[in-house]
Amino acid sequence: MSALRATSGGSSDQVVYFDNNATTPVAPQVLEEMLPYLSQLYGNPSSMHLFGGQVADRVEEARSRLAALLGAQPEEVVFTSCGTESDNAAIRSALDRNPGRRHIVTTRVEHPAVLSLCRRLEEERFRVTYLPVDAEGLLDLNQVDEAITDETAVVSVMWANNETGVLFPVEEIALMARERGAFFHTDAVQVIGKLPCDLAQSHIDLLALSGHKLHAPKGVGALYIRRGTPFTPFVIGGHQEHGLRGGTENVASIIALGKAAELAAANMAEEQTRVKALRDRLEEGIIRDAPGAARNGSGEQRLPNTSSTSFEYIEGEAILLHLSDLGVCASSGSACTSGSLEPSHVLRAMGVPYTRVHGSLRLSLSRYNTDEEVDYVLAHLPPIVRKLRELSPVGREELAGHA
Ligand code: PLP
Repeated sequence: MSALRATSGGSSDQVVYFDNNATTPVAPQVLEEMLPYLSQLYGNPSSMHLFGGQVADRVEEARSRLAALLGAQPEEVVFTSCGTESDNAAIRSALDRNPGRRHIVTTRVEHPAVLSLCRRLEEERFRVTYLPVDAEGLLDLNQVDEAITDETAVVSVMWANNETGVLFPVEEIALMARERGAFFHTDAVQVIGKLPCDLAQSHIDLLALSGHKLHAPKGVGALYIRRGTPFTPFVIGGHQEHGLRGGTENVASIIALGKAAELAAANMAEEQTRVKALRDRLEEGIIRDAPGAARNGSGEQRLPNTSSTSFEYIEGEAILLHLSDLGVCASSGSACTSGSLEPSHVLRAMGVPYTRVHGSLRLSLSRYNTDEEVDYVLAHLPPIVRKLRELSPVGREELAGHA
């Protein structure tokens, strides 16, 4: 896919996009399939006439395509507006369908789609256990096992972390939940389309995914509900989605998600080999050439497309601004809240030392990234890091010490 022109006033006229965990470009084939449903084919799938019926058939085709990517049955897939809605719907339903149990188990490193909901649920007098992770970002399965009790209504553990790419053993945890009569939900927003998924062979009850992470547009997601899992709808309205999610379907985007799922399946092997090789070369080069750089999170147990590194004594935001001037899109783990730069909750949970926790950089790749783009970042990033360290009094001393 050709690079876009920068519009943000940066000095570069080319965009090198390494922020695919934030969102992905819509694949050209996906755009082509969805466009007619925004122009000529505007029928409502619930309408009785032929025009609506044609559209309804395409929605069902998209459901089958997505189900195939998940290793699920089409009737186990419900389309939603985004990953956040799917997470909220899953957890709220599990609580509703396990009345009498008021305990939730989750982790400290979930996305806000789960964490903020859990905080709200604490206000609603649910008890939440937030499981810690170790320095590699990994969970201790003994701790997970101990945390789930006969009081636990739902266990919600993400499949892959969006900042570090670290993978959690969701299958083992799903079994533990099932043995105690709790529902198991996984936020798989960062996994679906990147790694194989076979829900027919799994004990996962509920799974959330989002279209814009796999080259479909923003504003469409899905929730997998294992057959036989009792479910209470989150968005209540008409009979759409077999009564499981009210609201007229976002037809064009649903068709797009179906096509994106089909493409993801076709490209999966490449994602795991070529994209991983690009990511590894990028990460190894950065750690070799940029002073004070170290990887965040497990090197092995992680997504093939994600690299999170931290640099001592500098701010991740400063790196991002310099990269942005060169047309490179990346992300840092920090969130700017009320004027203060808060380090990422994920890196803090991993105990990343204070000298590094502010200096994080996430580079996340897709099948559209190239060797030339990796070369470009490797040529420019280490000098940026060196320059920023020279501007930081402690960093300058350290650099001199290691000269
Ligand atoms: N969960 C994870 C792990 C994510 O990375 C994201 C998006 O960044 C979400 C949930 C939310 O998805 P959406 O943007 O579709 O609401």
